[in-house]
Amino acid sequence: DLWEALAPLGDEVATAVASFKPTLASVGSPRDVDKYAQNFIKQNGQEAPFMMFDLGMVARLYDAWTTTMPRVEPFYAVKCNGDPALLAVLAALGANFDCASLAEMQAVAAAGVGPERIIYANPCKLESHLRHAVSTGVKLTVFDAEDELYKIKKVHPGAELLLRIRADDVGAQCPLGSKYGAEFDECEPLLRVAKRLGLSCVGVSFHVGSGAASAQSFVEAIKAAKLVFEMAEGLGMPKMKVLDIGGGLSVGGKLTFSAAGAAINKALEKFFPEEEGVKVIAEPGRYFAEAPATLAALVFGRRLRGLRHAHTKANEYYINDGVYGSMNCLLYDHATISARPLRVSGGLRLLDEKMYRSTVFGPTCDGLDQVLTDVWLPKLEVGDWLLFPNMGAYTLAAGTSFNGFATSDIKTHYLWSEGDRLPFGEEEPGSDSDSHFGDAAMDSSDTGSDGGEFQSEGEAAKEESD
Ligand code: PLP
Repeated sequence: DLWEALAPLGDEVATAVASFKPTLASVGSPRDVDKYAQNFIKQNGQEAPFMMFDLGMVARLYDAWTTTMPRVEPFYAVKCNGDPALLAVLAALGANFDCASLAEMQAVAAAGVGPERIIYANPCKLESHLRHAVSTGVKLTVFDAEDELYKIKKVHPGAELLLRIRADDVGAQCPLGSKYGAEFDECEPLLRVAKRLGLSCVGVSFHVGSGAASAQSFVEAIKAAKLVFEMAEGLGMPKMKVLDIGGGLSVGGKLTFSAAGAAINKALEKFFPEEEGVKVIAEPGRYFAEAPATLAALVFGRRLRGLRHAHTKANEYYINDGVYGSMNCLLYDHATISARPLRVSGGLRLLDEKMYRSTVFGPTCDGLDQVLTDVWLPKLEVGDWLLFPNMGAYTLAAGTSFNGFATSDIKTHYLWSEGDRLPFGEEEPGSDSDSHFGDAAMDSSDTGSDGGEFQSEGEAAKEESD
């Protein structure tokens, strides 16, 4: 079945996927992740946490990207999740790559990607990393400061430069504007310096912030980029030819991918009509990496206190991954996470059980290591598992080995599922379909799947004490 599904994607994708056998498991739909986890845990007496990464969903996300925004070439932002199978599948599908460092350029090269498919998109680069770009032929990079131009002149005078401008989405999950991006009044002086140094300034980039909340922020940024294109022309510089609209997009968030895509397409048509020949690229990270990954963590301890003391929690659980591991996204990525319980022995039907106010802690001895606070969960037992969906973006990439719980030891299992193109019930532009695989997984009232998710106070039957 898997190879049949891969056939339309071409030989390159099939070869990339084949290289991850035998760790690749074919699952019918994304909902079958639960069953896969249950079988795996049972068969292996599993204790360690593990990540399940659905490469089939990555292929569908890539397809949705190219059909929604056919003009915008994705350069996957490796920083988000540098998993080698993810890089290989994206490379085979035809994506290009945004690297922020020497190691990321090496990781992408190891996936067989040539230098012309890489943008070194860190505005402030270490000289040794820039020298690596020179020696491997990576030419496209970005800048937002005068000193960076002197560095580039010295180390990489043949680089093709994008001027990164500041363009903030104030509601973004992770704003970036206070750190990167030239203010509008800084652009002209910077362009003059680039011109004086004889550097090739080929375009403009921006990043509205990761987890963008508003499509209008992209529209405003595209409009501002157009002004910078005109500014460069006014200074007698060669016509700019690349617009980089950065990252910020996701699926299943407040700003739907289809709504953002429609607004971006419209703004591009208005400010950069296709016939003008400007190449449009983007640097999506979260869009490709977040939804396909589900983390499984073991409940290895519990403390059932009821509500005997006002300051204590009702039910407390300890799991084997936490904020010093992949859940560092709670701190660094300002993420909210949710979990659904998995009972390994017997079919898990916890939805009709009583719910209790619960708190879930990570494994380290730090009080900060708290993963879910005051959520409603059925009464779990030691040996139950929690499955956390949407755990692929800025999770494994930034974990530590604090207290001896090494994030780097968390193994990834590769799955390949079939399903609709856009997850989480997102409508494709012009589609009136209402069958979406994400709905059931996200809806705790669903009775057709093995469990529900518990993020915050639900309306399900609640019981404050046992
Ligand atoms: N490009 C740059 C320069 C970034 O700093 C980031 C994230 O911080 C990204 C792309 C990826 O952004 P996202 O994950 O929101 O798509």
